[in-house]
Amino acid sequence: MTRIHGSCIEPEPTDLASELETCSCPRCAQTAQRWFIEHAEDGSLNSYSGLSCQACGLETGSFPGDP
Ligand SMILES: [Zn+2]
Repeated sequence: MTRIHGSCIEPEPTDLASELETCSCPRCAQTAQRWFIEHAEDGSLNSYSGLSCQACGLETGSFPGDP
């Protein structure tokens, strides 16, 4: 699912199109979630992705606005 809100820049999560998929954690091999975000910035669409594991607390990836 992709939603693009023109060139309006808002750091709110509601402005993001995101997807989650289940995968296995690279660190602890438990069930983790991989996420994808597409964010419209200055008319261009940037993609972000990362991984979140609640079993061991592993968090990877970058969010819009991160350096
Ligand atoms: Zn883990």
